[in-house]
Amino acid sequence: MLSIKKLYSGYNKSEILHGVDIDVNAGEIVVLIGPNGAGKSTALKSIFSLTDIYSGKIIYNDRDITKLKTFELIELGISFVPQGRQLFQNMTVLENLQMGAFMIRDKEVIQKGIEEVFKKFPVLKEKQNQISATLSGGQQQLVAIARALIQNPQLLLLDEPSLGLSPKMMQEVFDKIVEIKNSGVDILIVEQNARQAMCIADRTYVLEGGKIGISGGKDIIDNPKIREIYFGSDLNPEKVKACPIL
Ligand code: ADP
Repeated sequence: MLSIKKLYSGYNKSEILHGVDIDVNAGEIVVLIGPNGAGKSTALKSIFSLTDIYSGKIIYNDRDITKLKTFELIELGISFVPQGRQLFQNMTVLENLQMGAFMIRDKEVIQKGIEEVFKKFPVLKEKQNQISATLSGGQQQLVAIARALIQNPQLLLLDEPSLGLSPKMMQEVFDKIVEIKNSGVDILIVEQNARQAMCIADRTYVLEGGKIGISGGKDIIDNPKIREIYFGSDLNPEKVKACPIL
């Protein structure tokens, strides 16, 4: 459904991605990992029309979306949760969710969208009148994800959803992401926390220096290079496969 083909993109004249190919098929969680500065966020931002694209194509549901504007991409069913959550800190949870519905004119549709996300995130229903700044980091991340879901996306782009979270909250956020996938939303995640991300991924790509290196399905965990870099070669393979929070 999403296919990035030989993408060269960056900021002004500074090229960050040098010919990147990434596919997200229907029903998948795809994870993009790699060292700091590799261009992972740039890849997500490129899909969402927030970078300069020099060449290559982005195809979504058989349509070339390379040159579309962000609001057009949202209308086509693509939502983006940026790094650092970007909530309106002084607004309540409900107000933040309403902001997520800014593209929707019909008030009834907005109300229905909010009720839907409250079903998926009961904790946010409970805290709907609380000022967002007073929530835990994990709960704020859930608000950011819920806000993106109000647009009723078919494809969700998540930039570092586990950033700064405690292991317990990280587990909760990753569990939610799997739940969202199971509800029929395809997901592309950028993560520093490679081990955990690979655990929930159907497919993983490693980005290094603006180029895709290793990629693979769930068996990528068996790749000796992946094991050495991300798991430490001394780690018990069975333990790795059980996906504990490490
Ligand atoms: P990653 O997500 O893998 O850590 P990024 O995509 O954030 O990497 O950054 C890749 C490179 O792009 C870095 O060298 C960074 O300094 C540069 N970069 C990121 N955002 C901008 C921007 N808005 N303007 C110019 N350069 C940027």
